[in-house]
Amino acid sequence: MRRIKLFWRFVVDADAFINLLDRTGAVVSGSCALTLLQAEREAIVGRDMDVYTTEKFETEVLDHFKEREGYKCMEEVKKKTEYDSSAILKMHKLQNEDMEVDIIVTDWKCALAPVVQFHSTAVMNYITARSIVCLYPRWTTANKSLVNPRMYLENLTHLRTLHVLMKYRRRGFRVSADPFHLGEHMCEREDGSRSKGGYCPHAMRSTVDDDVLRWDFGPMKTLGDTTITCQDMPIMMWCLGGYECVEGDKDVTISYMLVSA
Ligand SMILES: [Zn+2]
Repeated sequence: MRRIKLFWRFVVDADAFINLLDRTGAVVSGSCALTLLQAEREAIVGRDMDVYTTEKFETEVLDHFKEREGYKCMEEVKKKTEYDSSAILKMHKLQNEDMEVDIIVTDWKCALAPVVQFHSTAVMNYITARSIVCLYPRWTTANKSLVNPRMYLENLTHLRTLHVLMKYRRRGFRVSADPFHLGEHMCEREDGSRSKGGYCPHAMRSTVDDDVLRWDFGPMKTLGDTTITCQDMPIMMWCLGGYECVEGDKDVTISYMLVSA
């Protein structure tokens, strides 16, 4: 119900919007998704909603907001340069009176690609047509957040990022670039006898692994006896990487991500 209430702040027809998410595999992420994970009294609902989509459905998602919800496109921002590792291709900034919706377009095959590149784990959450998904639930529900090693590996710690990280600190998050500041985690032993826990930044994670927390919103609409399902969303795999966990030895492992069909 909180999801519908949240959507109603930005769209008149919440059902049509959920349908759009289902059809296109688009997701709502950013502060909106985090809001739903927090207790209602702690949650700060922003004035804007971020919708992530693939290039393939860019026009469909845009048209939905423009034609069905009366939004106007204020600006189109091209994000990507030739040597940019960012999964974000461009962004459409839409506005309808005092509501703002950003449509973020990725040139990856999965709308989730930019989500696993976010500045920190606290915001690696998303809302699909069926569920809300939290990629680092143990940290996020305890108000802990690991800075994405990509930030220092790729020298992305510019002023804006620091500003954003401070924002989460002000909201009571313990933000750190060192995973051990957030508590113990299971690391791989040198002989490889133990697998890495999902909270080791060097572990390979996926959007369907056991560390992911997923709440389903309930059954989808049915048509006769058949449940209407969209094509399944591709699975995203990623590794945060960064400085090695072992004491003293501070080699760097690379961060990567890939889409598995
Ligand atoms: Zn580790």
